[in-house]
Amino acid sequence: MSPTGSTPTSPTHSDFPADFRGTVLRPGDDGYDQARAVFNGRAADHGPALIARCADEDDVATALRYASARDLPVAVRSGGHGSDGHAMPGGALVIDLSGLREITVDPDTRTVRAQAGVLLGELDAAAQEYGLVVPSGTVTTTGVAGLTLGGGIGHLMRRFGATVDNLLACEMITVDGRKVRADETENPDLFWALRGGGGNFGVVTAFEYRAHPLGPDVVSGMIVFPGDQAAAVLAQLPAFMADAPRELGLAAALTFAPPLPAVPEEAYGKPILMLIPVHTGDFAEAEKTVTALAGLGAPVLNTVRRTTWLETNSMLDATAPYGWRANARGGYLAALTAPVIDTLLERLAASPNLPGTVTAINVWALGGAISEDVDEEATAFSRAGASWLWETATLWTQAEHDAPYDAWADATTTAMQPHSLSNAYINLTDDQGEAWRRDVWGSGAKYRRLAEIKAEWDPRNLLRHNKNIAPAGA
Ligand SMILES: Cc1cc2nc3c(=O)[nH]c(=O)nc-3n(C[C@H](O)[C@H](O)[C@H](O)COP(=O)(O)OP(=O)(O)OC[C@H]3O[C@@H](n4cnc5c(N)ncnc54)[C@H](O)[C@@H]3O)c2cc1C
Repeated sequence: MSPTGSTPTSPTHSDFPADFRGTVLRPGDDGYDQARAVFNGRAADHGPALIARCADEDDVATALRYASARDLPVAVRSGGHGSDGHAMPGGALVIDLSGLREITVDPDTRTVRAQAGVLLGELDAAAQEYGLVVPSGTVTTTGVAGLTLGGGIGHLMRRFGATVDNLLACEMITVDGRKVRADETENPDLFWALRGGGGNFGVVTAFEYRAHPLGPDVVSGMIVFPGDQAAAVLAQLPAFMADAPRELGLAAALTFAPPLPAVPEEAYGKPILMLIPVHTGDFAEAEKTVTALAGLGAPVLNTVRRTTWLETNSMLDATAPYGWRANARGGYLAALTAPVIDTLLERLAASPNLPGTVTAINVWALGGAISEDVDEEATAFSRAGASWLWETATLWTQAEHDAPYDAWADATTTAMQPHSLSNAYINLTDDQGEAWRRDVWGSGAKYRRLAEIKAEWDPRNLLRHNKNIAPAGA
C-alpha cells in the first residue's frame, strides 16, 4: 500500500463552500468513520481532512472549483476498492461519489448508463433485468468507476473484451469545474486516456456502456485439485485454453483450502489449486468443456453447474471480506511456462499463511476478445503480448501482520519479475513507482501521450492520489 499518512497540519477547510448540497464530514463528525471505511482496512490508519459526499454533479464541480482555486490536491472515492487506498488518503480532501448510484438501461440500444458510485453487483442486477450484461469485474462490491478507468477484466473478457472495450462515453467534471463529455467524436483524446489511464484527468460522474445479451443462466463453479496435482494441471492449461471457446472464462487460484463444509476436512489449510470456469455459451458445449477441464487431474471437489449469471458473478465475494488489510501485486505473462508455474508454487509455499488470513495467487486466462479484437493503440489500457495475468490476493486483519505480508508481496514481485511483461494491468497491483508507471501502459509513446493529455486536463496535477501520470512539461 502506498503512503497515506496524515499531512502534518491537516487543514479543516473551514471555508468549504456553503452551497455544497451533499454531506461534508470532518474528523469527529457523526458518520465520518463510516464514510472513510474503504475495502483496504489499512486506509483507516489515517483519516482524511474532509470528505465531500456529493449529492450530484454540481457538487462535484463545486468541490473541484474550491480545490482548484486553492491549488489543493483532491482524492476521489467511488467504490473504494482501490488497493493503494488512494480513495481515502490521510489529511486529504476527498470527493466522495458513493451517493451517485443511478443506473439506466436502454434495452433497445443495448446501452447502460451508470453513475460513478455504482457497484458491480448493482450494475449486473440492473442489466440482467433486461437479459443484458456489461462486462466488468468479479467481486460485487467493487466500484464501476475505478474499475472502468483502469481497464476492467472479469469472467467475460475472453468473450466481450475488457470493460473499456465496451465503454461508449464518459461524463466528466474538469478540475476547474466544467462538465464535459468524452466519446469517440467529442474529446476523443480524453476518451482514449480515460479507457485505462486511471483517475488522472478529471472526475468522471457517469459512464455509458455497450451491453450484451447474456443469461439468466450460465455454467460456472469451482474445481478443486490437491496441491500435489497443481503443477501438472497448470501445465496443461495453455494447450487447453488454446482450443477453448471464447465463451469460456477461466481463473486458476493457488490457495489454501478454507474450512468450508464443501471442502473435505482432510484438505483444510493445505495448498490447493482451484479452477474457476465460467462458460456462457451453449449448455451442452459447456458441459463438455468443463468435464474436460476437470479431467486435467483428479479433483477432490467440483461445484460446476448450471446457475444464474448473478450467482456466478458473486461467487468470489466470500474471498474478499470488506475492510481487511490488503496489498496487491500482479503482472502479465506471455506464457504459462514450467518455470512460471514453479515460481508460483514456490511463492504460495513461502506465504506467511497466518491463521485467519486469506492468501491466493490467481492466474487469469486472457486470449479471445480482450487480446485479439482491439488494437493496443486503441485504448490507454495495455494488453500487448499478454496471454495470462497473475495477481496476489492477500488479506489479513492485524496491523502487526503488515510487515510479513508486505515482505512476501515484495519477494513475490521480485520472483515473478523475470517472467512478467513490462506492461501490466494498473488496477490489480499496488503502485510500484515511477519507473514502473512509465512502462505499465505499454510503451514510452503511450506514456508520453497520456502525459500530454494529463497536461491538457490537469496541468497542476491536482488529481495525484492515483497511479499518477506527471503532466508533460511539468
Ligand atoms: C476484492 C477486489 C476484487 C477486484 N476484482 C477485480 C476484477 O475482477 N476485475 C478488475 O478489473 N479489477 C478488480 N479489482 C480492482 C479494481 O478494479 C480496482 O480496485 C478499482 O480501482 C476499484 O474501483 P473503485 O471505484 O471501487 O475504487 P476507488 O478506491 O473508489 O477508486 C480507485 C481510484 O480510481 C480513481 N477513481 C475512482 N473513481 C473515480 C472517478 N469517478 N473519477 C476519477 N477517478 C476515479 C481514483 O484515483 C481512486 O483512487 C478488484 C479489487 C478488489 C479489492
